[in-house]
Amino acid sequence: MKRFFQIVALGAAVIFCCGCGYGSVGVGEKHDGADGKEKVSVWRYTDTAMGTVIQQSLYTAGEDAAKEISTEIIDYLTGLERDLLSWRLETSETYRLNASAGSGEGYLLSEDMTALLQSCMELQEQSGGAFDVTLGTVTRLWNIDQWAAGRMEDFQMPSSRDLANALDACGSHKLALETEDFPQSGLAERTLAFLPEGMQLDLGAVGKGHALSGIQILLEQTPEITGAVISVGGSVLTYGSKPDGGSWKVGIVNPFDTAAYIGILTLQGQWCVSTSGDYERYVEMDGARYHHILDPATGYPADSGVRGVTILSKDGMLSDGLSTACFILGPEKGMELAERYGAEALFVLKDGSIVMTEEMGRYFNGACSQ
Ligand code: AMP
Ligand code: MG
Repeated sequence: MKRFFQIVALGAAVIFCCGCGYGSVGVGEKHDGADGKEKVSVWRYTDTAMGTVIQQSLYTAGEDAAKEISTEIIDYLTGLERDLLSWRLETSETYRLNASAGSGEGYLLSEDMTALLQSCMELQEQSGGAFDVTLGTVTRLWNIDQWAAGRMEDFQMPSSRDLANALDACGSHKLALETEDFPQSGLAERTLAFLPEGMQLDLGAVGKGHALSGIQILLEQTPEITGAVISVGGSVLTYGSKPDGGSWKVGIVNPFDTAAYIGILTLQGQWCVSTSGDYERYVEMDGARYHHILDPATGYPADSGVRGVTILSKDGMLSDGLSTACFILGPEKGMELAERYGAEALFVLKDGSIVMTEEMGRYFNGACSQ
């Protein structure tokens, strides 16, 4: 197993753009080069979508292109939530899929949802069940999305009996995906999902990472944009290059002091970086912290000695899914899982030490603080 342990005095991991300082909408400035040609400038936008903060740094010569693509990206994210991912909005495929639970009739999946669920089920298997998007009944019992909305006063500790009942409805092995030939539709095949009675999907662990792939396609279709760093909650996409050929810097937040970084990742070109941490969404009661990453074995917040995990991968769904899975698995099993997927992992442990895969060490510089 290729890995090394590094002891650092500070603690550990959400990710933002180190040194990027996002300001208000459209704070970029246009500069003309000495030859009269427009120089590429950075244009920064901050918005909300998918229930989180979206920060965009777009490198292009003209503000028009930057404004246009930034609006397209926000529209895309809003549509993704509305049409695919939300379990609350009746318009979304996840909502309708959940509503079909127990009907015995298969729900016809879109191609996007088929690919996403297949990847989730593979990750569930590879992680030994630590990662499980069928935990919807349990995440709702904890009321996690209310904490994110700041309504923490409503927090009630679920009873162990309610948790046991909710867990009964979970388990990816009970979710059947059946792919069959379907020439009538003009498609070669179609996939149906069969959810047993009571099962509810929650794609919160992969949605933001999955969105990075769609954003990347939008950027690729816009040649005026030569480089970009886009953060969707705890997942960051780097794309293209800086005008001066410099590297992208992605900061990893210190879980022990979330106003500071434990270090930065120095990256060239396209990457996806996702972080899962116990400081992102949590409530505190009677001196105990209850966070949003749940152990499917117990239904309680995972306690694997980890405070934050950062994953580096070329694929956004994987970086996001693996960060959640690795948080639950802890450093030993987590690094094995990440390496099986060809991804790099960095863990900040409860004792303040930092553990990472060997390759991650090539990108990580622990000297940075805000
Ligand atoms: P993340 O912040 O990417 O680690 O995702 C955490 C979110 O994923 C939570 O807010 C839940 O909606 C969901 N979740 C919690 N525990 C799990 C789990 N064990 N497997 C899959 N999704 C989970
Ligand atoms: Mg995740």
